[in-house]
Amino acid sequence: MIFSTQARLMDGTALARELTARTTASAAAFTRRTGTAPCLATVLVGEDPASVTYVKMKRRRCERAGIRSRHVALPAGTGTAELVDTIAGLSADPRVHGILLQHPAGPGIDERAAFEAIAPGKDVDGVTMNSFAAMSFGLPGFVSCTPGGIMRLLDHYGVNPAGRHAVVLGRSAILGKPTGMLLLARDATVTYCHSRTTGLDALIRDADILVAAVGRPRFVRGDLVKPGAVVVDAGYNSGTVGDVDFEGAAARASLITPVPGGVGPMTIATLLAQTVEAAAAQHGSTAVPPTTIKNG
Ligand code: NAP
Repeated sequence: MIFSTQARLMDGTALARELTARTTASAAAFTRRTGTAPCLATVLVGEDPASVTYVKMKRRRCERAGIRSRHVALPAGTGTAELVDTIAGLSADPRVHGILLQHPAGPGIDERAAFEAIAPGKDVDGVTMNSFAAMSFGLPGFVSCTPGGIMRLLDHYGVNPAGRHAVVLGRSAILGKPTGMLLLARDATVTYCHSRTTGLDALIRDADILVAAVGRPRFVRGDLVKPGAVVVDAGYNSGTVGDVDFEGAAARASLITPVPGGVGPMTIATLLAQTVEAAAAQHGSTAVPPTTIKNG
């Protein structure tokens, strides 16, 4: 079907490919220099099918980029203390450069305690309080991967958030909240919206940059999009549908991310990039890796 699309697409697949090519080259250089490949430890509790698939995909991408992965599978029912001990062990292991705890860690687990067992220098998924603080102060550090991917997309397409009204729909710890923090650090005027927000339509209408991270298919009606706005659809719902009515929004926006092929590919590309950056930093590389995004 052909739509009268006016907006330019922000192509996350292409940008992720470019970033991963640079990461692969950095990983190879690291391996030549140190005699060992960068290593990401993945920790999975239980066998939730979606989580198993996500972890497999991340490990496969690591392998393709020349990054080793060490997988730790813990049975469902693992307690917080055991999970924290496992992660603390990986944090102390010099052969591991980055740690990813697949979210959700499972019922009954104190996920915050488990995340905080990740050494800040190995927090390549950007989930610790240390990383959150760095993001909110606009200081260097690892960013949450989906928000980091969104910022890379905005940078690549020449979107300067400074002075613009950024409306973030969603305030989850992995997505909405850090995205708003990164936009604020880049001098946007940020409005967070969530399930208790009133007057949502008017806020969406006023957004120069709209980030949809709600988890509801086509939640944002196209007619609400401000003409010329930049629309970032982080949603990924069953049927591969985003949180934005793409056709309606694309007819009004200046730039828009497709689903699939927008934000999604940037998430894993950012994880890989940060793993290699972590490895380089742990081996005393003072060079700023080419993949570092502007944070602040
Ligand atoms: P989440 O934890 O369920 O958070 C959803 C957020 O949306 C919450 O803050 C919630 O508000 C808000 N919300 C729910 N209903 C709303 C309504 N009617 N009006 C306004 N706000 C509402 O979801 P998430 O983990 O952030 O994920 C959001 C979406 O992004 C999902 O589709 C997910 O699949 C996708 N995602 C994509 C990637 C990727 O790599 N592309 C990565 C992560 C997530 P309250 O806080 O008040 O409950």
